[in-house]
Amino acid sequence: MKKLLALSLALVLCLAVFAGCGAKDDNTLTMATNAEFPPYEFMEDGKIVGIDAEIAQAIADKLGKELVIENVDFDSLIPGVQTNKYDFVMAGMTVTDERKEQVDFTQTYATGVQVIIVKEGSAITSADDLFADGANNKIGVQLATTGDLYCTWDIEDEGLGTVERYNKGADAVMALNSGKVDCVVIDNEPAKVFVQNNPGLKILDTEYITEDYAAAVSKDSPELLADIDKALGELIADGTVKNIIEKYIPAE
Ligand code: GLN
Repeated sequence: MKKLLALSLALVLCLAVFAGCGAKDDNTLTMATNAEFPPYEFMEDGKIVGIDAEIAQAIADKLGKELVIENVDFDSLIPGVQTNKYDFVMAGMTVTDERKEQVDFTQTYATGVQVIIVKEGSAITSADDLFADGANNKIGVQLATTGDLYCTWDIEDEGLGTVERYNKGADAVMALNSGKVDCVVIDNEPAKVFVQNNPGLKILDTEYITEDYAAAVSKDSPELLADIDKALGELIADGTVKNIIEKYIPAE
């Protein structure tokens, strides 16, 4: 009886070890994003598509891995990669000093600009109006994005207005449409898409700040970072990244 027990215990142990091996041999590469950021990532016919989705696919192809894309809230991306829930993030994510303390970034593959969307005829006519003495505007942003961070520091903390945070950029734009906020600060490419879909809105000519986008990897995975960075570097060098970007953002 005891022998039998020992034998079955050993069997269970073996199985557990095998299961563990299975996980280790897993050939998937999981990229996390927030598919609310056209044209970098958005839903089309129930699928996540866009610049980041295509670059991530090209990276996975180079590494001989099967790409899996997870769609999560923007503020869950960094915690998810820190806890190794996802292998990497591609989400039009700006490289900032604060984020560099939480995750490692690859080289940058695109540039973004924080712009200001207003209603036609708005009293806000330039970025300076937001920082002027006595200013008191309600600014719509997407939660935890650089637009949120900068407006919190430059405007809310300075007593020049309040920041309204939305889970999706599109929701911030809806709030602008219905007069709940006076402007929206968001990255230029999604801004163009949102303005196109909402007559009566426009993007101000003055820009708030220019930023670099990169992929983010856990600080615990220097080898994965090196692999992804090398693949990305090759895709930039051979023009693949440029072609993907131009497919979604035709030159003006
Ligand atoms: N570039 C901005 C940031 O990194 C916004 C990105 C996004 O909304 N997907 O915070």
